[in-house]
Amino acid sequence: MNTDTKITFISGGTGTPKLLLGFRELISEENMTIIGNIGDDDEFYGLLVSPDVDTLIYLFSNQLDLVKFWGIEDDSFISLEKLADLGEETWFQLGDNDLALHLLRNKLLASGLTHSEAIKELCKRLNIKAKILPISDDKIRTKLITSDDQFLSFQEFTVKHKEKHDIKAVIYEGIKKAKPTEEVENIILNSETIIIGPSNPITSIGPMLAMPKFERTLKAAEGQVIAISPVIGDQAFSGPAANMLKGLQLEPNAFGIAKLYRKFLNTYFISESDENLVKKIEKLKIKVICTDISLKSHEDRTRIAQEILDVIKE
Ligand code: GDP
Repeated sequence: MNTDTKITFISGGTGTPKLLLGFRELISEENMTIIGNIGDDDEFYGLLVSPDVDTLIYLFSNQLDLVKFWGIEDDSFISLEKLADLGEETWFQLGDNDLALHLLRNKLLASGLTHSEAIKELCKRLNIKAKILPISDDKIRTKLITSDDQFLSFQEFTVKHKEKHDIKAVIYEGIKKAKPTEEVENIILNSETIIIGPSNPITSIGPMLAMPKFERTLKAAEGQVIAISPVIGDQAFSGPAANMLKGLQLEPNAFGIAKLYRKFLNTYFISESDENLVKKIEKLKIKVICTDISLKSHEDRTRIAQEILDVIKE
């Protein structure tokens, strides 16, 4: 265990959490700060849900369902069945155990805490050593316009419609007024290493970068910024990232993503099968490392985390 490397991660709810599982084996959790996306947040059954931040909380409290990458392992859904009996739409799944965190968060928010303060309190109660921070205390909601002109919330698109629509536009509602929290800004400015994990560049990293203040802060950061590609060739490992890039007229590959990150990215881990993109990416003044970027197994996750640590220590 390397105890003195401190890293700040920027995360969505699937790809980056897989990478975090690797880093957890190699550095102490006290040295990990994770800034989570809030563009997927929504309200269901009267409760705020913050899927990406909640996945991080469950990961660091050892409760996460590591197959689905959301919710609590082995949860049941009896409350949801009862809600359906009462005539509620229940396509958004909240497990019985998962409900506890949501109820408590609502109580904390109703008592006047900000979302970051409520998350801090939840992390304290769960004895989480890593620092988990929502990017902002302002409201941002990612909305998607489908090629057949439907206007869907992120959860409608992913959960209700199972990502089956092509997307032609993305709107980050609330973005004009949103800013990162002061704590997030200070952490970014003072981090030696910032890792943008392999998360969806449009719906997970996108809402954060769409806040001009956050992109400026990343650019001004003293430390190095490292990213890991979430795609191989023109295919995502999972989810709609590649299709979304295409729908938005962006190149659906590691180079297209590099262009989105070019203002602040120093080092980029891409798949060894994407070597043909190296020269193009290097022209953006980004150092490229080709390796196996699959995060499927425990061994994959620790190996890539170690490779990144080796670069950090160079
Ligand atoms: P969301 O919040 O659930 O949408 O999750 P993220 O945005 O954090 O993660 C989704 C992204 O993770 C997708 O674009 C996937 O391609 C990427 N991803 C999933 N598994 C892997 C993997 O094994 N390796 C890499 N490099 N990326 C992955």
